[in-house]
Amino acid sequence: MIRLYDTAARQVLPLEPRTPGEVSMYVCGPTVYGPPHLGHGRFSLVFDVLRRYLEWSGNRVRYVSNITDIDDKIIDRAEAEGRSWTEVVTEFETVWWDAMDAMGVRRPDDDPHATAYVERMVDLISDLVGRGAAYPTDDGVYLSVEQVDGYGLLAHQSLDEMVAGGGEREVHGAGRKRHPADFALWKFAKPGEPSWPSPWGDGRPGWHTECVVMSLDLLGDGFDLHGGGLDLAFPHHENERAQAVAVGRDFARRWVHNGFVEVGGEKMSKSLGNFTTLTELLAEHDARAYRLLVLRAHYRRPLEVTADTIAQAEATLERLDAFARRTAELDEAEPDAAVLDAFRTRMDDDLDTPGALAGLFDVVSEVNRLLDAGAAPAATPLAAAVRSALDAMGLDLRDPSAELVPDDVLALAAARDRARAEKDWGMADQLRDELVSKGYVVEDTPGGTVVRRA
Ligand SMILES: [Zn+2]
Repeated sequence: MIRLYDTAARQVLPLEPRTPGEVSMYVCGPTVYGPPHLGHGRFSLVFDVLRRYLEWSGNRVRYVSNITDIDDKIIDRAEAEGRSWTEVVTEFETVWWDAMDAMGVRRPDDDPHATAYVERMVDLISDLVGRGAAYPTDDGVYLSVEQVDGYGLLAHQSLDEMVAGGGEREVHGAGRKRHPADFALWKFAKPGEPSWPSPWGDGRPGWHTECVVMSLDLLGDGFDLHGGGLDLAFPHHENERAQAVAVGRDFARRWVHNGFVEVGGEKMSKSLGNFTTLTELLAEHDARAYRLLVLRAHYRRPLEVTADTIAQAEATLERLDAFARRTAELDEAEPDAAVLDAFRTRMDDDLDTPGALAGLFDVVSEVNRLLDAGAAPAATPLAAAVRSALDAMGLDLRDPSAELVPDDVLALAAARDRARAEKDWGMADQLRDELVSKGYVVEDTPGGTVVRRA
């Protein structure tokens, strides 16, 4: 079974699902108030790869990822643009799924929307208030973190340390709170704001309450894995967990967080002003390039996104697509067991995708060498293993059969191969120009001329 770094335990541990062979995952989704940024793209891809790999390894996976469709930021945008908050939500949820589809991120099994769970959130808050773990103030209802065993598990700080270090970032309503780290479960609505009824007054749920209710509701107590970007570990995940603990429910067994996206060494986020949207990136580049870039960095390390790293990823894709075209005609074969074992070893070691890819690139080179030497039977199981492993990571190779190249074009490519074999370089160049003028990209591969639509 895969071993993953657990943020709470601060060590790499085997996943050990509560039901062997079945993995339940909850990954915090977006607040839909603007286009997704590169960090959203990264967490979506990281957990898509983990999900696919777990399935490839024989597990059934239930993957839940929410849509936060009520939030201060949504309300602010609607107000600024003079439209309704539901219009903002509808627009940016569509933008979100378009980006996910473009990247080949599989849709979650469930994509709960916060607004559909408000009643259940009110129930949880009532339970917390009834137990003395939460209390109303004049602007909302707050959780009393001092009532929670082990608060600070994910922050790796005690409450005293948090107060001393000013580590608590959420200062909303700080003057009315019993403890600076107490956080809002329910926020009373100001006039004109969207609201739902509650025993304490009309309002809306806090973000931390959304995820704890939806994850437990859909996946049940003690679900296997809670994931998200590292910036969510504290306070968001800490505060989700605090509510579950306070009502005596088992929460996530493992906590998995991916690292930041950096541009010029700085965390990519809107607040830093280096905001490049995922949508912009996908409009300008092969969507697979971003997946490849994400795979080439270990998920816990920072990911450097620059024009250069994207260009490198695109060049690598060209190489993989050339491999796909070159091996498309090989017979079906059982994937080479040793290649798959090596791949599995890397992936099971805390999702070592860079190591796994490096191993596969070596096999791609070996396949090319064997084909050059006319040893197709030896290359066939190796090629099948590479395809299987890339598929486990969700990296699609361009399907050559989908690119129906007309016979006259294939004849030109074959004529060019003959010219090259006869060292008639003038003729070879002339045939290349003819192919280009017909709208094809021409590649010289060890297997001969390869053409595809430009
Ligand atoms: Zn969440």
